[in-house]
Amino acid sequence: MMKKKLVIGNWKMNLNMHESSIFLHNLSEKVKVHRDIDVILAPSTFTLQSLSLQVNHHQFKLAAQNFYWRDQGAFTGEVSVSQLRGIVQYALVGHSERRNIFGETDKDVRAKVAAAIRNNIRPILCIGENSDERNYGEANLVISDQLIGGLANVSSEDIEKVVIAYEPVWAIGTGEHASAEDVKRSVRIIRSLIRTLFGQEAASDVRILYGGSVNLSNADVYLNVDNVDGLLIGGASLDAYQFSGIVEKAHFMQLEETKRRIDERL
Ligand code: PEP
Repeated sequence: MMKKKLVIGNWKMNLNMHESSIFLHNLSEKVKVHRDIDVILAPSTFTLQSLSLQVNHHQFKLAAQNFYWRDQGAFTGEVSVSQLRGIVQYALVGHSERRNIFGETDKDVRAKVAAAIRNNIRPILCIGENSDERNYGEANLVISDQLIGGLANVSSEDIEKVVIAYEPVWAIGTGEHASAEDVKRSVRIIRSLIRTLFGQEAASDVRILYGGSVNLSNADVYLNVDNVDGLLIGGASLDAYQFSGIVEKAHFMQLEETKRRIDERL
């Protein structure tokens, strides 16, 4: 069976309540519903609840950008993933901005992955090397460390709930584009590590996304890379024309893939 592709929009700390609501309305007019694509929106935590009342759940799923791993308690200013139950279906974990600006470590990341799973919310584990690590030839090591570190508390029954987003830090919000070869190599490493940790079935089932300066003109390059199951989009997800166009491209790729499989069987 073909896996659904995921297209995720990370709005980061943009759009106030009113603007988010208008933007969601615009998106809902432009983004078509396709059975083979899940479109996931990650607005700021502050707007999540009201958007969850407005959103057509058939058209969009919601994701949190961040949360605290404890379920409740004296943690002033934090929002727990258990408070997000019923509002989001997914949650980003370990985005590079969380790691680099807010000092999140693999230990925090693995606690968050486990908290999301415990609360029936699918974690989207973000991993990727920065430019120094890339230049020193350490990319594979960093990706492996972050993956092993992030998945340390996940059992083999739960691994299929996790989505992995490979996001090279040097390509996030910079307009620098990873090559299809770069992405292919990293995704291969991620799958083979999942095979080692959780077995062959998990390795083929887990969805691995690419993110880093994806826009309407380069989306098909990444969607075409073997074994890439979707995209995590920052900047271009705030442009309804580009975002809906990327969803259409993902759907088109799925149709092509289906045709190819049918031809192979004939
Ligand atoms: C992101 O925020 O995860 C991201 C990939 O951002 P951008 O598309 O703007 O590079």
